[in-house]
Amino acid sequence: MIPDWFHVPAPTGTNYKKLKNDLKKLKLHTVCEEAQCPNIGECWDIGTATIMLLGDTCTRGCRFCSIKTSSKPPPPDINEPFNTAKAICEWDINYVVLTSVDRDDLPDGGANHFAKTVELIKFSRPDILIECLVSDFQGDVNSVRRLALSGLEVYAHNIETVKRLQKHVRDKRANYEQSLYVLKKAKEINPKLLTKTSVMLGLGETKEEVIEAMQDARNNNVDVITFGQYLRPTKNHLSVVEYISPEVFNDYKEIGLKMGFRYIASGPLVRSSYKAGEYYMQNLIN
Ligand code: SF4
Ligand code: SF4
Repeated sequence: MIPDWFHVPAPTGTNYKKLKNDLKKLKLHTVCEEAQCPNIGECWDIGTATIMLLGDTCTRGCRFCSIKTSSKPPPPDINEPFNTAKAICEWDINYVVLTSVDRDDLPDGGANHFAKTVELIKFSRPDILIECLVSDFQGDVNSVRRLALSGLEVYAHNIETVKRLQKHVRDKRANYEQSLYVLKKAKEINPKLLTKTSVMLGLGETKEEVIEAMQDARNNNVDVITFGQYLRPTKNHLSVVEYISPEVFNDYKEIGLKMGFRYIASGPLVRSSYKAGEYYMQNLIN
């Protein structure tokens, strides 16, 4: 049974209501709405939202994820960077997260598409802070470079789980070392970037393995890490092994801060982009 701490009040904030109305007009697809994210009230109220690029069909099939998959998704809409940037710039928002499905069918994994969107947003609205949560681009350094130098503030890529559970949880084309490598490269290419990763808990990992994952991320200069509870989207996906208590999430936060992470969001309902704008604007970006 799902513990009580997953029950959240319905969103009511004034800013939330305004963003919801704006979205209808702008025709943007947010993960927040499409995934029925429980944090929508909190995130939208502080002006943070997550926008999907590159379509709704992924070339990979991770065992925890409910996104539809195909080896040949429809080609990307070449006008999407312009149209998305235009809509975002008209929107009363101060922090945006751009994310996408994995596109292993594209030669650059979609890096140029992301980079163009970032460049177009920054051209009109340099004040909007941008986080890109991207794939591993199959470890391709040219793709990492194209995005890392496009003007974004935060380069995010998720290791998703601890080292031992990678094959069990993620698509076979993803792996721990490759994920850490792209995060390290992004920071090497552009040292001004904040790098960020995310880990789901409750898949059978041990405390030692979580601490090892944190240490490995720090060893690759990752600045920010988030921890949230894995929830099974359908019966065809991996089962939840354990519901982690809020106290254990707090323990990880304390351990991680001592390791030198600049920010950690850790809690049952935390998702990769949870209230992202709040902490970046207040604490990290000058
Ligand atoms: Fe889902 Fe990302 Fe895995 Fe694709 S790569 S199946 S979008 S988690
Ligand atoms: Fe949107 Fe991410 Fe916040 Fe959920 S956690 S509401 S997906 S920004």
